[in-house]
Amino acid sequence: MNKNILTIRVDDIFGQKCGCPICLTKRISEENACEYIAGSAMMTPEIRIETNKLGFCERHFDMLLKTSARLPIALILSTHLDEIEAKAYESETAFGKNTKAERGAEFEKTCYVCNRMNDDLDRFLHGMFKMYAEDESFRKLFSEQEYICFPHRNLLLNNARKYLKKDILKQFSQETERLSKEKLKLIRSGLEELCRSFDYRNVGKPLSENAEVSPENAVCFLTGRQTENEIEIMKDREE
Ligand SMILES: [Zn+2]
Ligand SMILES: [Zn+2]
Repeated sequence: MNKNILTIRVDDIFGQKCGCPICLTKRISEENACEYIAGSAMMTPEIRIETNKLGFCERHFDMLLKTSARLPIALILSTHLDEIEAKAYESETAFGKNTKAERGAEFEKTCYVCNRMNDDLDRFLHGMFKMYAEDESFRKLFSEQEYICFPHRNLLLNNARKYLKKDILKQFSQETERLSKEKLKLIRSGLEELCRSFDYRNVGKPLSENAEVSPENAVCFLTGRQTENEIEIMKDREE
């Protein structure tokens, strides 16, 4: 199979074998988008037009506020508010048929970072499915993943049909399901152990690490994001 930037990226993400590979690529894409916004994007007129129009969701506003780039953030917010003022506060007839409040509500639904991440993920999945269809060694690497979280198991299974033919589709679906189900079982057993530890008969008994962090792991598994532990492992590897 020909190597290009996309296949190299897919190989790199899956090669990490750190948690759910889609959560990992999503986090990297999110961090890149936020760094970009707080950096060179401020000076790029096409991007400013987009951020003025789309704004950000609550999560990504918060991530931008946590960066130290006060000037870029202030400039981006200021021209975004200009756009909101013009389209959602000014004269009723200036912009199409919708009322000002309807146009205002549209602003609440869009996020530049989310859009960028979705585009990124689409490209990533396209490359991943192509590799799964064509490359035996990638199919092996896929099976060696730690797990696939719940939303990404749904995403992969819902998209697989578009890309994979019968036999490979079956293999892909079985492997994805296995990787997700095994993690589900592990989290459930951790939660059960944690609940049992509150029984007075178990006072003083040591708790396994799996049980200790099982609520955090369960929430990450359910919401499609890397655990603190996985993020730390990746940061160590990057250094
Ligand atoms: Zn995931
Ligand atoms: Zn967002």
